[in-house]
Amino acid sequence: SYVGVLQTGFKDFLLKPELSRAIVDCGFEHPSEVQQSTIPQSIHGTDVLCQAKSGLGKTAVFVLSTLQQIDAVPGEVAVVVICHTRELAFQIRNEYLRFSKYMPDVKTSVFYGGTKYQDDIDKLKNKETCPNIIVATPGRCKALVRDKHANLSHVKMFVIDECDKVLEKADMRQDVQDIFRATPREKQVMMFTATLNDEMKPICRRFLQNPLEIFVDDEAKLTLHGLQQFYFKINENEKNKTLAKLLDDLEFNQVIIFVNSSKRANELTKLLQLSNFPAITVHGMMKQEERIERYKAFKDFDKRICVSTDVFGRGIDIERINLAINYDLPKEADQYLHRVGRAGRFGTKGLAVSFVSSAEDEEILEKIQSRFDVKIAPFPEEEGIDPSTY
Ligand code: ADP
Ligand code: MG
Repeated sequence: SYVGVLQTGFKDFLLKPELSRAIVDCGFEHPSEVQQSTIPQSIHGTDVLCQAKSGLGKTAVFVLSTLQQIDAVPGEVAVVVICHTRELAFQIRNEYLRFSKYMPDVKTSVFYGGTKYQDDIDKLKNKETCPNIIVATPGRCKALVRDKHANLSHVKMFVIDECDKVLEKADMRQDVQDIFRATPREKQVMMFTATLNDEMKPICRRFLQNPLEIFVDDEAKLTLHGLQQFYFKINENEKNKTLAKLLDDLEFNQVIIFVNSSKRANELTKLLQLSNFPAITVHGMMKQEERIERYKAFKDFDKRICVSTDVFGRGIDIERINLAINYDLPKEADQYLHRVGRAGRFGTKGLAVSFVSSAEDEEILEKIQSRFDVKIAPFPEEEGIDPSTY
């Protein structure tokens, strides 16, 4: 069953403060669809079988869920994460390091073949270094369990990433079963994969008890729901005229206008003020206190128009912004998402308009559309846009 509950941010999950802080540091603002539909239950110990296209953020689902629940007792392994390749194990371990940044008591280790076995043994033997979380490939983990170096009798959470790959071949499946059997019966089991055929489903379910089953289809991408996106193909010298017309015609609550330099931010702001548009600017060449002052003024609705560089492109949460204008298109596709994400946060409506004025801009526009699987259409100048839709 797919649970399509829309949530506005990670804060809605009510995670531990040390985890929330790390999420902010990682630059995560909006939970992806798979995170929204899984985390509310997975943090409470529910078993999970989750299939979602790659790149949708499945790793964070189990990393956050296990870190949220873990009670790190020195010398006791509480979490085992199994995956099929060494590189993936290494990467998952790095995700744990990023997200457990403010949890100094939580120790995570990665174990996989091709490294010195004795090093793993030494690490497990010593209470000071023994991990609370093990990320491992099946072969090495099974050896450590079999040889009684890894004690899994305190395990509370068991994760299999890329579970169809891990359980597909008989030998790997056997290794996992052996590891699984060394853990207590009572525990949470979570499985993740990008692909899951009907043959593999029952095999996975054998490890699970009343799992939440999440299957996110292909259309679900890391994009912003409810955000309408348009562009103007215009020359650089037509930007001001077009902007003024948009500000006159569109019924926005608050608008954020992005430019690519502090200098351009100052110039455009002056120009807007001269034309009697109540604008302020926030950019990086400004003292921190002044930035905060301006930010507050904008947030408190004293001003409705803010001209900004990318300093405002991330982490800024102003509910009333329903229009984002890229006066200058960003140089990176990802930056576009961060910028327009200021308008039309998860589940809310918004409008994004971008000025495209060079061959380079056109290339970026193409990249944005393929990266986020969105269609950005020419601005409908004739018919306009129904204000009730943003
Ligand atoms: P999957 O396992 O589903 O293929 P990953 O967990 O590897 O996806 O995540 C893909 C990328 O997306 C990673 O770089 C990750 O840091 C990033 N990511 C995941 N969730 C979010 C989020 N909510 N906001 C921003 N970036 C995210
Ligand atoms: Mg993954």
